[in-house]
Amino acid sequence: MVSPQVQHARSPVNQVRYELLTLGDELLLGLTTNTHLAFIGQQLGRRGVQLSRNSTVADEATQIAAEFEQAWARSHVIITTGGLGPTCDDRTREAIATVLKQQLVFDTAIEQAIANRFAAFGRRMGPNNLKQAYRFADGEVLTNANGTAPGLWFERDGRVLCMLPGPPNELQPMFIEQVLPRLEARGLLLDREAYVQIRTAGIGESALELKLQPVLDRHAEGLSVAFCAHEGMVDCRLSSPSGRLSVAEIEGIARECSRVIGEDFTTYGHDSLARLTSDLLRVQERRLAVAETATGGLLANAFTELGGACKFFAGGVVCCSNDARMQLLDIPECLLLQHGAASAECAVAMATGVAEALGSDYGLAVTGFAGETLGPGGNPIGTIFIALHAPHGVWSRKLSYPGPRSAVKIRAVNAALDWLRRELIRERNGTVVPVRQTGIPQ
Ligand code: ATP
Repeated sequence: MVSPQVQHARSPVNQVRYELLTLGDELLLGLTTNTHLAFIGQQLGRRGVQLSRNSTVADEATQIAAEFEQAWARSHVIITTGGLGPTCDDRTREAIATVLKQQLVFDTAIEQAIANRFAAFGRRMGPNNLKQAYRFADGEVLTNANGTAPGLWFERDGRVLCMLPGPPNELQPMFIEQVLPRLEARGLLLDREAYVQIRTAGIGESALELKLQPVLDRHAEGLSVAFCAHEGMVDCRLSSPSGRLSVAEIEGIARECSRVIGEDFTTYGHDSLARLTSDLLRVQERRLAVAETATGGLLANAFTELGGACKFFAGGVVCCSNDARMQLLDIPECLLLQHGAASAECAVAMATGVAEALGSDYGLAVTGFAGETLGPGGNPIGTIFIALHAPHGVWSRKLSYPGPRSAVKIRAVNAALDWLRRELIRERNGTVVPVRQTGIPQ
């Protein structure tokens, strides 16, 4: 096999070949979703590098060694995840040491760190944990603040091996705090974001492209454009892989695009709708409460994922039965009997009911049919009603999202968040529609 000849420090980063080996039977059995691919791929992509390959390998020493040997021969940077633990199925360290012909040496500093971690939790370290205190004789250690297995770093002939533990809560901070800076210092990554991302909501991929076409055509020379749609949102990434356009020029084009997009533009970068909405609530000193049926707490979860939610998020109610709706949100029984729980009228009553019950300025409600059975009243599966109670009015909307339950739920949550985002921006800009009615604000 031909070895890569590129000298890292002098190569454009997009010529550096990165490979990810995700290790673990649980990945191949489908018991664990390979989130490391998404996380590491995204982190590298943001710094100008696209993974050239991801192989998932069983917890079997000869397979690990064989896969690693090939990866080491054809790529410049190999990242492995998993298999660094203390148990008998954690064989990555030994298998790779054999390929590299590296001796594994016992490191007392790692031993101490593991012992300290056990002591902090009032537990005794077992003898099998000592297995994690070995590192490559010519390698370095990446400390693990959230677990016992340290990461391992090894370099030879301009090539890099980076081995990380499996648990995402351990891997992710190590990758951001230790791996990215090391790669950057060696010229293997850009020292800045590789692209400007424009985030949108409420507009489809093709409609967005058509809208942006005149702007993009004007700047076509040297500009690379990519669209990515996900659950009611579309991102557009602008970059200049040839380096013909400067960062400032790309940012200028992005600003032109955002002006053309108008209200459907949400932000530059990677912030979620929940983050953007929360920031608006916080700055405008408004409080929100949510009421949900079909989304089962997903809307409330979007806010509690963020730190400091109690400042702007009063709480949420998941009310699946009519009794719960009547008791918790004071929804009249006659309304439920006349219109049903999955109706615009019920959504409005839920939004107002939860805002009044929890004393918040805004109430956001989601109800409908996310599941497998056909809804009453001829409403097909995926019919969702969302309602927004604001200081200046209350409205409902009927949405239709054909698809599996999980997708319907996420799209409904995103639609609700996006509606609130738009309403908060209108309030901030003094362009609210001061009418109390049921309908769709224009
Ligand atoms: P530990 O010390 O916990 O044994 P480890 O480095 O040996 O860590 P594994 O045993 O392979 O790692 O996996 C530990 C945990 O990390 C498991 O819960 C596993 O499902 C999860 N995990 C491993 N690989 C991935 C991945 N690619 N994506 C998401 N989770 C993963």
